[in-house]
Amino acid sequence: MTELQADVCVVGAGYAGLAAARRLRAGGRSVVVLEARDRVGGRIWTERLPDGTALDRGGAWLAPGHSAMLGLAADYGVGTYKTWVAGAHLLVEADRIRQYKGLIPKISPGAVVTIALAQARIDRLARKVPVDEPWTARRAAEWDGKSVGEWVARAGVRTAIGHDLFEMAVRGLFGSDLDRVALLHLLQLVHGHRSINVLFSIEGGSQENLIEGGAAAIAEHIAAELGDAVRLNAPVRAVNQTGASVMVEADGVSVSCRHVVIAAPPALSLDVAFDPPLERDRVSLYRAYVGGRETKTLVVYDTAFWRAAGYSGQSAEPRSPAEVTIDASPASGTPGILACFTFGPVAERWDAMAQQDRRPALLEALSRRFGPHAMKPDAVIETPWWSEPWSRGCSFAHLPPGVLSRYGPVIRQPFGRVHWAGTETAGTSHGAMDGAVRSGERAADEILQGVPSTAAAPAS
Ligand SMILES: Cc1cc2nc3c(=O)[nH]c(=O)nc-3n(C[C@H](O)[C@H](O)[C@H](O)COP(=O)(O)OP(=O)(O)OC[C@H]3O[C@@H](n4cnc5c(N)ncnc54)[C@H](O)[C@@H]3O)c2cc1C
Repeated sequence: MTELQADVCVVGAGYAGLAAARRLRAGGRSVVVLEARDRVGGRIWTERLPDGTALDRGGAWLAPGHSAMLGLAADYGVGTYKTWVAGAHLLVEADRIRQYKGLIPKISPGAVVTIALAQARIDRLARKVPVDEPWTARRAAEWDGKSVGEWVARAGVRTAIGHDLFEMAVRGLFGSDLDRVALLHLLQLVHGHRSINVLFSIEGGSQENLIEGGAAAIAEHIAAELGDAVRLNAPVRAVNQTGASVMVEADGVSVSCRHVVIAAPPALSLDVAFDPPLERDRVSLYRAYVGGRETKTLVVYDTAFWRAAGYSGQSAEPRSPAEVTIDASPASGTPGILACFTFGPVAERWDAMAQQDRRPALLEALSRRFGPHAMKPDAVIETPWWSEPWSRGCSFAHLPPGVLSRYGPVIRQPFGRVHWAGTETAGTSHGAMDGAVRSGERAADEILQGVPSTAAAPAS
């Protein structure tokens, strides 16, 4: 057992934990970061082909408003580039494929108008939800009592394909059956990204920019700067607070420190034994969080052949083995990479199928959209995120009705000398890498500024 000492021990080397450690060190504190996996990045997972091409198995895109992440990218000299959007997008229905440009396909005018109205309504409600404290909205109890599924069913979106498309887009935000997500959580998410259009969009939206060298490139720079303060393969098992000190115990290493930042997803924090035990409200909150069920499959081709055929690579086919595709090729355009997604119950259904059946079904779906070349990939890399033991879901954890308005206030409250980070604790850019960075910096600032604990744990 290695015994270490530091001012602060950070649990988790995702973007939240790394941003916290970086800021603490800049503030003159010594840090140790304990990470369960054998890599940094958490829900950001960049693998590289022998030629160096980055494959982002997890989060990948930055919106223009993701200033915390873009600021880090600039600090480390990491470039970004625009997602390829030139050409026609495709919407697949049972018996036809429509080509379109812009955000909403030209399905019937009634469907287009009613989707736009539903989006405007969501935006209007979202603006009434304080992004950091959604539980203080005047109608918080009412909105928390409803599911997103109920809201979508009554949103008045016309035509079957219009409804399917809208439902899939919203389901894609959470990776869940929408009956299991509170409307209040959707409203917080939307406000945290300014509008639902931003969340759905490539141009001007959440999928506008990719990161040169992959989304983990910045995390790798921060980890390199932190050097041997980052300990991999060190899952934290216990946090014991006594008086002015905290003992953090992980596999093979213990850290004696004055403060802790927990930057692990909420449900995983419950696997750590806290002494004194966590407050009951926090346990209730964390038990209710569910990581989204989403599979991201990267299909790698010799070239981005769809571009030459006049397609953008963006396509949608609700309930198919590639419900959404986006061109995720490197800036050079070679090799060609299609990122394919399935969400919630659809992801679970396809995942339950034997791989030898699932893969041809995926490639056939792609070849119907982009032509026969799609049948000949160089590699197919699937990541069902809910099977990742140190994430248990993606892109972020969501809450069912009745939880956020009741237990939400505890989420960022320090527990004695323990502070809480992670994208789930962020208001601005909630659920995204940018939210993770902001949350880590906020937790670090709490320690640097001596924010007192309001929770019933030893505080001095
Ligand atoms: C498929 C997918 C697509 C996404 N797309 C995007 C996107 O395009 N753009 C975007 O901005 N965001 C995207 N996201 C979301 C984004 O990845 C997350 O918001 C962000 O990475 C969360 O960072 P975090 O530091 O809060 O948590 P994490 O990245 O989950 O980091 C937590 C870390 O804690 C570690 N850990 C857990 N338990 C312990 C323990 N007991 N001891 C020690 N370590 C522990 C974990 O191993 C992990 O490394 C996506 C996510 C996924 C999975």
